[in-house]
Amino acid sequence: MICLLCAQSIPITYKFQDLFLFQTPEIQLCSSCHAQFEHISHSHCPRCFKSGSNGICMDCQNWESKGVIVSHHAFYCYNDAMKSYFSQYKFQGDYRLRKVFRNVFKKLPKNFVYVPIPVSIERLKERGFNQVTGFLSEIAYQEVLEKEETTQQSSLSRALRLKSENPFRIKKEAHLPQKICLIDDIYTTGATLNHAVKLLKDAGVSEVRTCSLCR
Ligand SMILES: [Zn+2]
Ligand SMILES: [Zn+2]
Repeated sequence: MICLLCAQSIPITYKFQDLFLFQTPEIQLCSSCHAQFEHISHSHCPRCFKSGSNGICMDCQNWESKGVIVSHHAFYCYNDAMKSYFSQYKFQGDYRLRKVFRNVFKKLPKNFVYVPIPVSIERLKERGFNQVTGFLSEIAYQEVLEKEETTQQSSLSRALRLKSENPFRIKKEAHLPQKICLIDDIYTTGATLNHAVKLLKDAGVSEVRTCSLCR
């Protein structure tokens, strides 16, 4: 068996049930690739999970000054290993890699409806899949949001540009649940997720939390 990330061969250790079902284990990463992923440290921002932050970080303070109280959970740091993972998964389109973190996504908060952040139709055509719904392939989720096609920002007038700041809209046929946990791949500035949170709250959803694989 070969590691999906570094192409080194991995010694096969079959579990009894794998042998019984004549299946090979699905996650094919070598232990050294696996060890390079870094969990968020114990000291992190309580609102956005920024690693190494003592107390509420600057990003979250900025959001608060705009009236947004961030309520986010992340699992891993966006380090070099994670960057190369995403480059292979998203940009080279290696769909097999969606399952590497499948156990992480089984630890999402309970009693929420999971809603993935959508990609635009353009991006979907180009990549062939939404990397976030790929992560959720073993748990139930609802696709409530859609993303507008990206227009060249510079070609829009200022008024239109302000209006188009929120790239998401709620699907026409969507039935909105009361408690939503929005799922994304990477939390960077928080702008993407917070746009979606605002949209859902304005539409009457009473509780919206957010989660991402990386921060
Ligand atoms: Zn490897
Ligand atoms: Zn923070």
